[in-house]
Amino acid sequence: MGTAKMVLQPRHGTDHTGSANLAVQGGVKPCFSMDAQMVAQIYYVIISLKGFVMKVQKGHRFRLDLDEAQAEFCSRTAGICRFLWNLALEQRSMAYRQEGRHSVGYNAQAGELSDLKAFAPWIAEAPSHCLQQTLRDLDTAFQNFFAKRAAYPNFRKKFQRDSFRFPDAKQFLVDEVGLRVKLPKLGQVAYRNGKGRHALMLDGKAKSITVSREGRHWFMSVLCESEVPEPLVNPGTPVGLDLGVAHAITTSTGEHLPVLGRTRAEDRRLARLQRNLGRKKKGSRNRAKARTDLAEFQARIARRRRDSIHKATTKLAKNHGLVVIEDLQVKGMTASAAGTLEAPGRNVRAKSGLNRVILDKAWAEIRRQLGYKCLWSGSRLVVVNPAYTSQRCSRCGHREAGNRPSQEKFACLACGHAENADINAAKNILAAGLAATTDGLAVAACGAMASAGQRSRNSAA
Ligand SMILES: [Zn+2]
Repeated sequence: MGTAKMVLQPRHGTDHTGSANLAVQGGVKPCFSMDAQMVAQIYYVIISLKGFVMKVQKGHRFRLDLDEAQAEFCSRTAGICRFLWNLALEQRSMAYRQEGRHSVGYNAQAGELSDLKAFAPWIAEAPSHCLQQTLRDLDTAFQNFFAKRAAYPNFRKKFQRDSFRFPDAKQFLVDEVGLRVKLPKLGQVAYRNGKGRHALMLDGKAKSITVSREGRHWFMSVLCESEVPEPLVNPGTPVGLDLGVAHAITTSTGEHLPVLGRTRAEDRRLARLQRNLGRKKKGSRNRAKARTDLAEFQARIARRRRDSIHKATTKLAKNHGLVVIEDLQVKGMTASAAGTLEAPGRNVRAKSGLNRVILDKAWAEIRRQLGYKCLWSGSRLVVVNPAYTSQRCSRCGHREAGNRPSQEKFACLACGHAENADINAAKNILAAGLAATTDGLAVAACGAMASAGQRSRNSAA
């Protein structure tokens, strides 16, 4: 539909995966320190409903043991995919600015791949399925943007989320006994699994494999799909959750569930690693090492945070038949690093050490995990408007800004009810959720998710 055909073509001056830098990165030897003890984990489950059977997708994550040539190949492929992503994003951005949303789509961009390979033959070094998948991922990112589910897609930077995906199960073979996986162009690759009861078995039919870098290591995530009977309705009591700055999760039953951040000592270590990286000469081997040290450190913190969120959401979804949370997009707009708009100017340096950006991500992750875990355990997730949940008295309903003398305290000016402000808010959130479910006004996240799954399956068929 576009008026002018835009050609997918590398520009001069664009970062085109300079092979010198990648060689340094790919040459880093694997190091099996205690930090890297996590060799395998299940990392997520997505679910859709079909009759009385649930389609379950699980990601199984394993650490790869690559030789130098294979590591180099992975770096290079990730670099080419990043280059293609950025190029295709630029093309779509240009079209979006000039002609509106649907002017360039996946088919148009995939159709230009062969022209692009003729122009820049090194692109063909990456497996072609991975290239197509990159364009498909970009397409999905735009669809999410157009549907207002996500922000505008970003350009990818070197060493940030380096990854590529093999989307076709016919192209790879996982040997679970020999702990090897056969991948296009890479050949046989050894991977690590836990031992005994810590060993992971692939659960269902492998659908795709994503290879990604984290710190010094490369990992593969095997996405498997299986069908299981729909779970029985969870009879657990309802619970409301307040997500906050000082306490990541507070329940209406008065519990604080932690999301682990950095300790003070780790803050200092991070600063030291960052300084160290800044001092090293560009392009030097020492700089590559400093970069991996930093990435490894950050990956370990992120892993710990993810695990603590998993622990909390599993517990909540298992024990409660109804989980009520606030609409985080709305809540995020009123919250600031210094607290909330409702209680401004107070210093609430989070004890858990979560900063604003990480907090947003943690909230989104909590919401995402609750979404599938509630479905998984037969519970319902309900999302309510967060307006005034922190100013209203959970006992008498009186609403006044003065009810909140400090970030931590709630003290009702009408009835004298006093309690921890987060617990009071969680109780209000629960009440809002219960009111909404009986009125039928609730945005039942589970339902929304199930129907989203339905849609994507239909459109894929
Ligand atoms: Zn009151």
